[in-house]
Amino acid sequence: MAQISHAQSIRIAVDLSDAPRNIYHAKLNIPVKPGPFTLVYPKWIPGNHRPSGPVHNLTGLRMEVNGRAIPWERDDVDVYAFHVNVPAGASELEVSLDAITQGLNAAGTGAQASSNVLGLNWNEVVLYPQGTKSDDVQVAPSVRLPGGWKFGAALEVANQAGDSVEFHPVSLTMLVDSPLIAGNHFRKVELTKPGETPAHVIDMVSESEAGLAMTPADEAAYRKLVAETGALFGARHYLHYDFLVTLSDQVLGRGLEHHQSSDNGVGEQTLTDDDRHLLEAGLLPHEFVHSWNGKYRRPAGLATPNYQEPMRADLLWVYEGLTEYLGNVLTARSGLWTPEQYREALAETAAMLDHRSGRTWRPLEDTARSVQILRLLGRSWQSWRRGLDYYPEGELVWLEVDATIRQQTNGQKSLDDFCRLFHGAPSGPAKVVPYTFDDLVRTLNQVVPYDWAKLLNERVNDVLPRAPLGGIVRGGWKLVYNEKPNVYVRAAEKTRKFENYFYSLGFAVNEKAELIDVIPGSPAYQAGIGPGMKLIAINGRLWSKDVLKEAVGTSKENPKPIELLVSNAEFVKSYSLDYHGGLQNPHLERTSGEDLLDEIINPLTK
Ligand SMILES: [Zn+2]
Repeated sequence: MAQISHAQSIRIAVDLSDAPRNIYHAKLNIPVKPGPFTLVYPKWIPGNHRPSGPVHNLTGLRMEVNGRAIPWERDDVDVYAFHVNVPAGASELEVSLDAITQGLNAAGTGAQASSNVLGLNWNEVVLYPQGTKSDDVQVAPSVRLPGGWKFGAALEVANQAGDSVEFHPVSLTMLVDSPLIAGNHFRKVELTKPGETPAHVIDMVSESEAGLAMTPADEAAYRKLVAETGALFGARHYLHYDFLVTLSDQVLGRGLEHHQSSDNGVGEQTLTDDDRHLLEAGLLPHEFVHSWNGKYRRPAGLATPNYQEPMRADLLWVYEGLTEYLGNVLTARSGLWTPEQYREALAETAAMLDHRSGRTWRPLEDTARSVQILRLLGRSWQSWRRGLDYYPEGELVWLEVDATIRQQTNGQKSLDDFCRLFHGAPSGPAKVVPYTFDDLVRTLNQVVPYDWAKLLNERVNDVLPRAPLGGIVRGGWKLVYNEKPNVYVRAAEKTRKFENYFYSLGFAVNEKAELIDVIPGSPAYQAGIGPGMKLIAINGRLWSKDVLKEAVGTSKENPKPIELLVSNAEFVKSYSLDYHGGLQNPHLERTSGEDLLDEIINPLTK
């Protein structure tokens, strides 16, 4: 099938000057031989773990040979494949295409560019010969930026003249792994000293100069993060690393990992607003950990030879779950979170999972295997479906593994030792070393012999109505609920404009009074209330967040049920909730024994 000559590169030139209206124009020169030929558009996108290549946004497709248009035909089954007949004597196919860069999220609204910032994922503008391995396809990329904009990317610059930038040729694998961000407000922060290798930088773009105001304390914390990953893993699998950070409320929030960079999208105020800072502090550490866990060590089912081959997502509770665990630990070790903020976030994760009604029918691994269908869903009935629980529950599972190693070895060993064995030496350029469940178990047994296969199999494959809280308990803490607000939940409520009553009445409600989700088995569910309905009044008084808080807060002393007047589209009904538990906010409380959580988040470097 592969008709490309490996000695020659595909040239791809992307004109980004139309980014403010969310359309990118690409021209590709693809070496070919005469005869039937099939080009494909990347479908299974690394890091997304699903067939998310936005082929619906591929437009303006035109193919030419020596300036003459030739007809193409989309495959009648695979909408990602395009057939052409290359005429005799032709050695190069010129392809032009446009990528529309809006309509990218579940609501069909997310955009990748605005008047001031853009993000370019090369998989959105590339076609490559069907049947080739992405490692074997060489690409020479270039871009034209909007006038005066500056960019960040892990790609190495070969030439720059004004707004035109040519990069050194790379494999298609590394091209798709090296997104570019650009903006007219740009700031670069060096995280390593001049001459030190590998170099680490933060490249930031924003809607405003004010959005780029990273504090000296944060700069110091990100330098510490780099040092802490060195101490944790003992090796690096990249030649240099770029944290690409977009601060904007106009484009999609995102976090996507790569070998030598990560693409992080957060709100414009994230560096200056304490609540947003608390909520997003774990993002860069999480995506950075992926360079080791996910990109370098990758589950065999996700290490595919090209972007058309389906991915098998069973081990996402390692790929994402261990990353979530290590990312949050590193957030605390680097000082981006205080120990209390770490514990409050962990308490909310534990409480949320312990109230997930879907755990009564669906094992954790099924949430991983179902990433293709779960990723794009809204929050209605999320507790009953379970969402992408392999992230937060993976965190709890790996905390339990870490605490177990520490107890089994009387504090001599920890999950840090596993990381050094599994993700560590030798350092070198980006590469993939696939693994299986058995490889994980074997490495854990190298750290300390234990029935790891049994523990992990039970946590991942059994239907477990209660969340795995063993790591918290072994760590010297317990999950409790009381009236005191959880700082992490409160920051989320303020920023995302909702009120969390999941652990009392059993629902969350947004600022428009819509019930975002209702947990099966909860008082609200028992009374007959469901997601999508709207609160009108509480105990005879029109809804407001204060009225609701007052009713729940005084429910312990009030012998009468809470009366909710609720609308379901055009119809209104009253529901009686016999609830007397008061406000229920999750926290961790110390028990006896050693404080392993404190040891776990203790920095490894001075
Ligand atoms: Zn991740």
